[in-house]
Amino acid sequence: MTLHTPHAPPREESAPDILCEDLVRIYSTEGIEVQALQGLSLRVDSGDVVALVGASGSGKSTLLGILSGLDTPTGGRARVAGVDLLSMTRRQRVAYQRHSVGFVWQQTSRNLMPFLSAAENIALPLVITSRRDRSERVAELLDLLDIADCRDRRPAELSGGQQQRVAIATALANTPSVLLADEPTGELDEAMSAEVLEAMRDASERLGVTVLIVTHDPTIAEHVRRTVQIRDGRTSTEVLRRTLVDESGQQRTVSQEYTVIDRAGRLQLPGSHVERLALRDRVRLELEDDHVGVWPDEDSSDDDDLREDDFRDENRPAPDQTEGLR
Ligand code: ADP
Ligand code: MG
Repeated sequence: MTLHTPHAPPREESAPDILCEDLVRIYSTEGIEVQALQGLSLRVDSGDVVALVGASGSGKSTLLGILSGLDTPTGGRARVAGVDLLSMTRRQRVAYQRHSVGFVWQQTSRNLMPFLSAAENIALPLVITSRRDRSERVAELLDLLDIADCRDRRPAELSGGQQQRVAIATALANTPSVLLADEPTGELDEAMSAEVLEAMRDASERLGVTVLIVTHDPTIAEHVRRTVQIRDGRTSTEVLRRTLVDESGQQRTVSQEYTVIDRAGRLQLPGSHVERLALRDRVRLELEDDHVGVWPDEDSSDDDDLREDDFRDENRPAPDQTEGLR
């Protein structure tokens, strides 16, 4: 039997590897609608390693399901590796899943065939795409993920960290542009998690693959340059880490927090900032030459949303005077 292998879809070179705009996904089950994604926008440049964090139910897996080509969005735009995910045909979808994206799941057991060795698992996607240089490619990947000593062992004979590294090798087998991972360290302890996250970062550096990792891992920000927060089906704030070198040659890592601003100018402040300054209902803005200041509204009283003073400006009658007008 010869398996039909559609070729990798052509890609546009200058485009970012992941571009989502106003992405919406509504699930309808038994007449109840859940808006899992509510206009999500995200851009990930080629070769970047980005973590996506957010509370359970915020839409992270829904997004990865769409980006992996397993699910289709209800609306919006999504392009990955130059492929339009909303308009692709069934045939293009198969090619996309085989060549453009690789996927790693949380459950170590879901990633690998239990009855095959590590090397055989990695070879499987190469068999499906009829690649000729299979054994060289498998050796390359075993080496890249530093798991050559695991080659003849089955998943049950490997640690959780090793299993996930075999899973990453398998996902990378057909040289995808984008590697997606949904909670890849969810079942691992801290040491193994670090090992797996570093393996993905290393793969990105060496192969130029773009990596998007969904995680609850609180240490994630130490392993990636960019951490994006997702809240209620939308991207909200993000943290960028940069390494600076000072005059004496010392390296220093600085983290800077950012927020997304949409086309209407709406932006969301991080929850910790809102809490710390007790911001609510209304904040005072001041436009400076090069920034906008945001202050708590000192005029609003603690108990009432609006004070009587608010009604007593020159142009408006006091509240009691308006009684007759209502
Ligand atoms: P996360 O991965 O961030 O925990 P999910 O993307 O799994 O979040 O879920 C987002 C929302 O969509 C949740 O309210 C969840 O209950 C709902 N949801 C996810 N998958 C389905 C589905 N297949 N059918 C109906 N609702 C779903
Ligand atoms: Mg999830």
